[in-house]
Amino acid sequence: MTTGAGRRSIPSLERSAELYRRALKVLPGGVNSPVRAMRQIGREPIFVARGEGCELIDVDGNRYVDWVGSWGPLILGHAHPEVLAAVAAAAQRGTSFGAATEAEVELAEAVVDRVPSAEMVRMTSSGTEAAMSAIRLARAATGREVVVKFAGAYHGHSDGLLAEAGSALATLAIPASPGVPTSHTASTVVVPWNDREAVSRALADHDVAALVAEPIAANMGVVPPRAGFLEFLRSASIDGGSLLIFDEVITGFRVGRGGAQQLYGVEPDLTVLGKVIGGGLPAAAFAGGSELLERVAPAGDVYQAGTLSGNPLATAAGLATLRALDGPAYERLIALTDRFAAGLKTLAAGRPLQVAAAPGLLTLFFSERPILDFAMAAACDLDAHAGFCRAMLDRGVYPPPSQFEAWFVSLAHDEATIDRTLEAAAESLDEVLG
Ligand SMILES: *Cc1c(COP(=O)(O)O)cnc(C)c1O
Repeated sequence: MTTGAGRRSIPSLERSAELYRRALKVLPGGVNSPVRAMRQIGREPIFVARGEGCELIDVDGNRYVDWVGSWGPLILGHAHPEVLAAVAAAAQRGTSFGAATEAEVELAEAVVDRVPSAEMVRMTSSGTEAAMSAIRLARAATGREVVVKFAGAYHGHSDGLLAEAGSALATLAIPASPGVPTSHTASTVVVPWNDREAVSRALADHDVAALVAEPIAANMGVVPPRAGFLEFLRSASIDGGSLLIFDEVITGFRVGRGGAQQLYGVEPDLTVLGKVIGGGLPAAAFAGGSELLERVAPAGDVYQAGTLSGNPLATAAGLATLRALDGPAYERLIALTDRFAAGLKTLAAGRPLQVAAAPGLLTLFFSERPILDFAMAAACDLDAHAGFCRAMLDRGVYPPPSQFEAWFVSLAHDEATIDRTLEAAAESLDEVLG
């Protein structure tokens, strides 16, 4: 218990500590996905008991304003009544069939209706699988093998894409990934984000099957494309005879109804979707023009499958989530993000801090200069960031516990929670930067 206006008491983390000790014996690092361990910010993980709207409640009963939102899926917040009702109704009818269902057709139609470049869709259970499968399809369609990706971009943890991946890998500073055969990454070329020259060189030097990009980079922190960069990627890939894949696992259905491709008016050949599309349950997809997608089995010869692909519960959660995401919902999400970003920019004035934002997404970089690529993101003051995150948690605000991630704004946040977060941020920044 202390004084400051935004400071709320976090009386005890006893049960979290106890669960962590048990977890360390049976789960590597005590977790099932690295960033949850909070090692990057030098503390032990918090074990969550439940979520309510924009709040997390931990196993010791402490409440936090949640800015992670399960890393993107929960654009409507935790335990949204319509999503819960849809999942419960679906569960009553059976949890998995391994056979075709009506809801899969409906969800695919919803994707085609929203995403400008999508005419057909194949669903998977994770973004990792969807990205991996999209690349398989691109290689089959072009008869080429090399994939160009951007340093600090994350496209899941499949072997070929774990070359200088961002997100937790970058955070943990693992130089390469043990266990990934060099033969797999040998067909992946990594270039800096926002660097036209490097892209042109890669396309000239290799027979490139696909250029894969997060159209708004969000796994090195949020780093929007420079003006004209996505248009450049589109024309360069056409000139080079390669396909353009937008990994919209984060940006899809978040930065706008039709994702970043609609926001920027640049249509890729293939789109990878995840996170929001599953509404908090495991679902992802890849989509594109009919001619390309008809290459996927059983319509075509490119093999792709999944026991739980198009799972009824995940499909119901995704459909309920997309239904709630209408025009006014996006206007609201943008207004909330703007308010949050503006408040942070006020706090950042005169300090070594940069605020980068896109609709529903935001990152606070501890840097003197605006961030344009992964090298600049990696050069930020990570210790100051870690201290800031710890100070925020002490004040009942749960930020993404890594500089290389986005803060996820949801429709369950409101002006009051943003203002409370800004109050906590003001105190936390004073504590860390003086
Ligand atoms: C999260 C993410 C993935 C991987 O999705 P999983 O469901 O975690 O496998 C792929 N691409 C991007 C851009 C992501 O943010």
